[in-house]
Amino acid sequence: MSAYLFRNVDVWDAIEDEPYPGEVLVEGNRITAVAKNAHIDNQNGAEVIDGGGRFLMPGLVEGHCHLSFVNPARNQDLGEIPPEEHLLRTMRNATLLLNHGFTSAYSAASAKLRIDVVVRQEIEDGYLAGPRYRAAGPEITVTGGLGDERKNHGSFEGFGMIADGVTQIRQAVRLCAREGVDNVKFNVSGDEFTSNIRAELVSISQEELTIGVQTAHDFGKRVATHARAAESVKRAVRAGADCIYHCDFADEEALDMLEAAKDRIIIGPAFGLVHNSVFEGDVVGMTKEVVERMGLPRKLEHTMATYHEMRKRGMRVVVGGDYGFTVTPMGQNARDIGHFVKFFGYSPAEALKCATEVGGDIMGHKGELGIIREGALADILLVDGNPLDDQSILVGPKHFAMIMKDGAMHRDPRQRTTLH
Ligand SMILES: [Zn+2]
Repeated sequence: MSAYLFRNVDVWDAIEDEPYPGEVLVEGNRITAVAKNAHIDNQNGAEVIDGGGRFLMPGLVEGHCHLSFVNPARNQDLGEIPPEEHLLRTMRNATLLLNHGFTSAYSAASAKLRIDVVVRQEIEDGYLAGPRYRAAGPEITVTGGLGDERKNHGSFEGFGMIADGVTQIRQAVRLCAREGVDNVKFNVSGDEFTSNIRAELVSISQEELTIGVQTAHDFGKRVATHARAAESVKRAVRAGADCIYHCDFADEEALDMLEAAKDRIIIGPAFGLVHNSVFEGDVVGMTKEVVERMGLPRKLEHTMATYHEMRKRGMRVVVGGDYGFTVTPMGQNARDIGHFVKFFGYSPAEALKCATEVGGDIMGHKGELGIIREGALADILLVDGNPLDDQSILVGPKHFAMIMKDGAMHRDPRQRTTLH
């Protein structure tokens, strides 16, 4: 069993707001001791690592991840890319994300049914370097909903799994379960990024969603929903969804319903895609006019107001920004931590907890992942600089002196090399 004793580090444990000078002992894949302003006896001869006064924190958790979104120019590219290329590029994304300090990722949908599942298995079996991964199936949607890219005059593949009526919805969920997903995803509202149905409209019926969630729970799967419209948020809460993404247009009633269910529901804004489209869309041809026509600046205003409210109401919110599109290249995922501070009014410590401690919860390891405490899983970063002062240092691999996942060194501070 490997064992490491970290000395001379500033420990930020994701429990308290401020870091403290301390020491951390890792044995096997667990943290077995944390000392605050004190020393740990090295009785068992753990390898001692001098942290050089660096910031020691939990590994980051990407709470709205699409490893199989391999920078498509158009949504339908995700359906049309052949499975062989698609799988290889998804594997590359997995390693890239780990190199960028994300030791866990919760999938918010796979572009093809089995890609997430096989990539997760390859990581778990130790053949592929990647984050802990909760695999999803494709976004389950109805005819005309977000993810239905078909055209009446020809065959176009989308990234969604289309199912209409309770019978087909049940079957779609069971298919995802049979193929081994951990999470089932439903598109409840439309979106600005599809021409079919706007973000403020609802596609799936309450009956379909309720049956879908129930079926997923019967199979022991967690359920996430794409829900931008106020009514879509309400349907997701009523149906018993575990995770509700976006919620941009949540009205007072929707917010009250979420607050009443805050112990069982996790929220995620997936803000990066909206942010980059509005402020940086030019680089991919999304001019100001295009962005305006899509209604994105208006949506951004709504998202900001909604998440100020989420914070006030003490909702559990994860960081994750729909990275993997051309406008949101995979690897920049940590930018969303800074967005929480700048756009949603979170303190740096609160934002960092969303990317660590709350993330541990969505991964199914509440209180033992995304946190530095005795007994927790050993996913640990050593960072040059203090991300509470400047969140941008967490973007890109260069400030990570160490990346440890499950007690194993992915990046060893004693053999520091450049990761991409
Ligand atoms: Zn997404």
